[in-house]
Amino acid sequence: MARYTGPSCKLCRREGVKLYLKGDRCYTDKCAITRRNYAPGQHGQNKKKLTNYGLQLREKQKAKRIYGVLETQFRAYYEEADRQKGITGENLLRILETRLDNVVFRLGFASSRVEARQLVRHNHFTVNGQRVNIPSYQVSVGDVIAVKEKSRTSNKFKALAEVATNVPKWLVTDKDKMEGKVVALPQREDIEIPVNETLIVELYSK
Ligand code: SF4
Repeated sequence: MARYTGPSCKLCRREGVKLYLKGDRCYTDKCAITRRNYAPGQHGQNKKKLTNYGLQLREKQKAKRIYGVLETQFRAYYEEADRQKGITGENLLRILETRLDNVVFRLGFASSRVEARQLVRHNHFTVNGQRVNIPSYQVSVGDVIAVKEKSRTSNKFKALAEVATNVPKWLVTDKDKMEGKVVALPQREDIEIPVNETLIVELYSK
């Protein structure tokens, strides 16, 4: 499955905000946004005023980069969100939030979405007792996401289980059992990402 493999920090510098793509490093002084908060490249320090289109494009790129989704899949998510009842932008964010890799990250079983994606692909998780290794798998209310029994004794998961996690209210986690449950679908106020989804909808609905 295709994914971006270039330098993560460049993506944050392009967007001018922390996208938290590197786990623990993002919370230290080594963060590139703390050190060099300007766009990468020769002309990165020349600030240009963005057009409306530019603003819409940047919001879309930011959302794609936060969730690690490429253009084709992102557009498919938008089309699905547009078909659903309710506000398209909020539907889009809900679809992105309920990806299995994001849920693993939100439950505190990975330090970043990038790591969560890798752990899912490496068969470390089950959903309702069944092994699932598809990062884009959409979870539903009532689903139980657990670290696979064989993986629970690994140092990595033991260490993660000891770190306190700020779990959003649509999820509950039991670190001792190394599992979590989806208790509701996320509402807009539960999704703390620096993205204006209305601009994304404006971009795609042209
Ligand atoms: Fe972004 Fe994290 Fe790199 Fe900082 S350390 S620029 S938040 S990926």
